[in-house]
Amino acid sequence: MGDMQGRSQGHSQGRSQGLVVRDLEKHFGGVQAVCGVDFSVQPGECVALIGPNGAGKSTTFACIAGQHAPSSGQVLWQGETLNALQPAQRLQRGIARTFQVAQIFEALTVLQNVQLLLPATPVMSPLQVLDKQEPSAALALLARVGLQTQAGQAARQLSYGAKKRLELAMALAGLRAGPGLLLLDEPAAGLAPSERAELMQLVRSLAHDAVAHARLAVLYTEHNMDAVFGIADRVLVLMEGRLVASGTAEEVASNTVVLTHYLGRSFGKKGAVGHA
Ligand code: ADP
Ligand code: MG
Repeated sequence: MGDMQGRSQGHSQGRSQGLVVRDLEKHFGGVQAVCGVDFSVQPGECVALIGPNGAGKSTTFACIAGQHAPSSGQVLWQGETLNALQPAQRLQRGIARTFQVAQIFEALTVLQNVQLLLPATPVMSPLQVLDKQEPSAALALLARVGLQTQAGQAARQLSYGAKKRLELAMALAGLRAGPGLLLLDEPAAGLAPSERAELMQLVRSLAHDAVAHARLAVLYTEHNMDAVFGIADRVLVLMEGRLVASGTAEEVASNTVVLTHYLGRSFGKKGAVGHA
């Protein structure tokens, strides 16, 4: 965060909409996890951030969501710099995230998990929220992710795929009306192929169809190519902390650098792109 002011050259672009990541760097001691990454994501866009293990995907995410402070560079949302804001303050501005391993409250019902995350008046304790919160808003979100019939079940009884859907509904519950940014770290990790495809269609629909009367900017990480074809409008390829390619899934999958150092030269040759 140290040299935020020193890099104020691009101030005039400060009013651009959506997410803008500018010259982002993050090091952990001597490990340069992210080195000078630039990209943007507009509301209504579904963008994938892909790359091999250790490429810096989760670190980039954590810098956007607020778990990590960037070493330098800027993260802007709707023209406002986020660098100094805590995750909760980012959530108030419409930025929600999920984690690689689903994080839900196993002992509560599916409905209660979503109710807990809906904005409450400040004087309500979590238990009062469960008591007083109208279930209709939570039910609408469960319907959005295809879990309405499981609302009364204990969350621990859900399949892992359904838990990932529940986590999405919980992330949506934290957002207020208006433009939002949804950050999903490997949303389909650990799922069977059929469940993966369905979940990724849902992820795509969250960017393309309005949620609470606004379209979301969706940025997700992934390391398998099957989750980007037909899903992401744009794919960013990160390797060793740097963006090495961006474009449609087809474009990056035929990029020489990406093929040589990440996907492997035989990728897609047999016409089977879903096998990676
Ligand atoms: P990806 O999500 O693409 O697999 P990460 O962002 O998790 O990659 O990691 C990028 C690099 O930063 C790796 O070399 C990793 O070991 C390192 N790294 C990530 N988090 C930390 C941390 N908290 N402390 C030290 N090194 C880290
Ligand atoms: Mg990761």
